[in-house]
Amino acid sequence: MDIVIQKFGGTSVATEQSRNEVAKKIIKAKEEGKKPVVVVSAMGRKGDPYATDTLIEFVSSINSSIPQRELDLLMSCGEIISAVVLTNILISKGYKASAMTGAQAGIITDDSFGNADVLMVNPKNIFELISKDIIPVIAGFQGISQTGNITTLGRGGSDTSASLIGEAVKANTIEIYTDVDGIMTADPRICPDAKVIEKISYNEVFQLADSGAKVIHPRAVEIAMRANIPLFIKNTFNERPGTCIIHYGGEENNLLKKSNNRLITGIAHRNNRLQICIEGENIDDEDLFSTLAENNISIDIINIFPERKLFTVDDKYKEIIIKILNQKNVKFKLTDNCCKITLIGERMTGVPGVMAKIIKCLNKNNITILQTVDSLTTIACLIHNSNTTKAVMALHKEFELGI
Ligand code: ADP
Ligand code: MG
Repeated sequence: MDIVIQKFGGTSVATEQSRNEVAKKIIKAKEEGKKPVVVVSAMGRKGDPYATDTLIEFVSSINSSIPQRELDLLMSCGEIISAVVLTNILISKGYKASAMTGAQAGIITDDSFGNADVLMVNPKNIFELISKDIIPVIAGFQGISQTGNITTLGRGGSDTSASLIGEAVKANTIEIYTDVDGIMTADPRICPDAKVIEKISYNEVFQLADSGAKVIHPRAVEIAMRANIPLFIKNTFNERPGTCIIHYGGEENNLLKKSNNRLITGIAHRNNRLQICIEGENIDDEDLFSTLAENNISIDIINIFPERKLFTVDDKYKEIIIKILNQKNVKFKLTDNCCKITLIGERMTGVPGVMAKIIKCLNKNNITILQTVDSLTTIACLIHNSNTTKAVMALHKEFELGI
């Protein structure tokens, strides 16, 4: 059975016109003899009537401390509305379709409201619809806990729903439809030269997504990779082929090498970084970093020297970090408004000179490097936010990604 998961993001279902484009994609798959299983996000962005952020704003204007359980119940509504609207469009065009909540689609989670982990997916109801030739239109971003509470899956949750459902129904492909032509060599909003990447490995997309490229959630990439299902990123609004995400290996690898022998595949950036520098030789590292961990502060870049500890976190932790450091009575300096720029490429492993090239390029553009970190397939630099666009564009050019 040729099951294809088709996930449509917020902008794809935002307007009547865009929803018609969505319906066309689903109908095309159906007419090609495939079995589409559709996953949808809520309609539009903050300010749009049924967008999740709008619903939250509405309720928190009454009382900002709404309980997590109720908040999840509310946050699940946007996707449900979207699923019902799209189902109705498909029915009006003469196709059989049925809307499903995450719970009805068999997505069972733990009880962590706002960021629930999926424990299992029971695809029984989905298969039942497919067997009756009915198109399932599933509300993304949500599930149900074993105790019967509606939960949501956190940021990028609809991408995760799509991959999990794909895995559960053993889909042939997972298609993520959005408002750009695929995964690009950099964020197109800040780098006009960014180009669509035709083929890329799961690992590289994971790294890009994990380093801030918003186009797909890293968890969704991990799940598709685990299930070994090809993942496509496509534009809802045109017929371009998009990006194909696969394992590098064998024949594919040779083709890929021929089509792209660049060291760097793409550049991602993440704003809102806060750098902390602690000076002094008598600091109890173990105690300090244990306290940070106990407060659920995840550390991004870290360098430890005998006389100095240098680390970077999300700036949402600023207040709590200041409190902890004051309690520990250590001398520290904060640098806020930082951005982490990450260059990703599987082919850079073991190749000398990549870091030197990056440093030279940033120096040439008068961009101060605050900290660096690297792994086998990534190199990242921390810089001031004000230099983000300049740095991404310069590195993009330096590594010839726009060609
Ligand atoms: P959706 O609502 O469809 O889930 P998102 O806003 O989550 O869409 O993701 C798509 C957006 O991701 C694009 O509009 C683009 O601005 C942004 N983006 C950031 N980095 C990249 C990248 N490397 N490639 C493509 N898009 C990117
Ligand atoms: Mg998204």
